[in-house]
Amino acid sequence: MSVATPPNASVIATDLPAHAEVVVIGGGPAGATTATLVAQQGRQVTLLERERFPRFHIGESLIPETFWVLERLGMLEQMRNSRFVEKHSVQFVNEKGSLSEPFYFADHKPQESSRTWQVMRSEFDLMMLRNAAQHGVDVHEGVRVLEVCFDQSPTGERATGVRVQGESGTEQTIRADVVVDASGQGTMIMSRLGLREWDPELKKAAIWTYWKGAQRGNNRDEGATLVLQLANKQGWFWYIPLHDDTVSVGVVAGYDYLFKDRESKAPEAIYFEEVKKCLGLVPKIAAAVQLEPVRVAKEYSYRSQQVAGDGWVLVGDAFGFLDPLYSSGILLALKSGELAADAISAALAAGDTSAARLGAWGPEYIRGMERMRRLVCEFYDGFNFGKFVKRYPELKGHVTDLLIGDLFNERVDEIIQPLQAMRAAETAGAG
Ligand SMILES: Cc1cc2nc3c(=O)[nH]c(=O)nc-3n(C[C@H](O)[C@H](O)[C@H](O)COP(=O)(O)OP(=O)(O)OC[C@H]3O[C@@H](n4cnc5c(N)ncnc54)[C@H](O)[C@@H]3O)c2cc1C
Repeated sequence: MSVATPPNASVIATDLPAHAEVVVIGGGPAGATTATLVAQQGRQVTLLERERFPRFHIGESLIPETFWVLERLGMLEQMRNSRFVEKHSVQFVNEKGSLSEPFYFADHKPQESSRTWQVMRSEFDLMMLRNAAQHGVDVHEGVRVLEVCFDQSPTGERATGVRVQGESGTEQTIRADVVVDASGQGTMIMSRLGLREWDPELKKAAIWTYWKGAQRGNNRDEGATLVLQLANKQGWFWYIPLHDDTVSVGVVAGYDYLFKDRESKAPEAIYFEEVKKCLGLVPKIAAAVQLEPVRVAKEYSYRSQQVAGDGWVLVGDAFGFLDPLYSSGILLALKSGELAADAISAALAAGDTSAARLGAWGPEYIRGMERMRRLVCEFYDGFNFGKFVKRYPELKGHVTDLLIGDLFNERVDEIIQPLQAMRAAETAGAG
């Protein structure tokens, strides 16, 4: 069985326009969100995706704050009726194999938005893309953007459109008032303009595969994401229960730790060496069958120096990628797509597609991303959720807020001072 290929075939239009108000590069969650929300405002939006969906993608665990964007996209009914496993909590398993108490999202905020889903991306992304087409987006699959075209404007380079190639090899230019780069880790504009900044602390890589018949909880625990530490605390495994009795199980650790001294070994062998070091994981997959060869991602975290320029905007991974520890990638793709879409609609209405207008949402978004990054770095520096919550029970809600993805809220900053105090106490105790 392959987890990459559900039976449904894709959308899609054929003739490419010579001009569109908005051209979106990439039909992943960020591109589909931006395109749908701009099209909902009655604008002409053309979306170009190089693959034909369904296609495989990693990134299967949603977090609850995606709810609000899915609602605006008109996707909630489809999500409720889908086969995706419901996710109600996250649980941490330490290096000795002991489980923390679960962080149930609804205990903190008892409302529908506190449960979310574990999705097979091939199916989820296809749903998102179809939804975009149903909202009037002119969707083209099998069309690769070769380059973004720029003119020299008085204030710098203005994007004017894209040059594309169809599956038959024919090339064409599409002019656009706004070009949205949602090309994921392809990072077309960031690479072209040299805007990438690598995260100096998060140089990680991942190796993963899928298991059938692995252990899973019952009822509301069935879809719990587990984060399991390695015995040597050099990395962690994700454990994400999907539908069709499939569980996604992957290790994330420093790139050097995973690959440097094991250059002669195949990723498969490295994966199984790490499985043995994860005490909480071994019994869970003991009776399960591996479904696929392992896959590898070298996912150094990065961010662009700019969120927008004259005539262009970056969304999702094309703007920045943050370590997958707290499953924030799709939330960030959806949220940046939403914020960018509102900025684009306002810019088109005002007849001003300058960098200042298109990127007005950047500072707030980056503050939210920073909050998540901080929690990621704390985890790699030894932060223990169980201990923190025992010491500051009144702050459990704040931690849960971050795990829910409520990042765009200054209240959660109240955990920073206690975090620093606990770290100082631990350092003093160790010294
Ligand atoms: C190991 C790992 C684990 C992860 N786990 C999680 C998780 O559990 N939960 C979570 O939320 N996130 C997770 N993520 C992150 C998540 O995968 C991404 O953040 C998310 O897919 C970003 O969506 P996007 O739309 O920006 O990009 P993508 O989903 O990558 O979409 C980009 C699209 O652009 C298309 N494209 C690229 N170049 C071109 C071109 N030149 N022309 C036309 N089309 C083009 C691609 O084909 C693709 O379909 C994980 C990531 C990694 C690496």
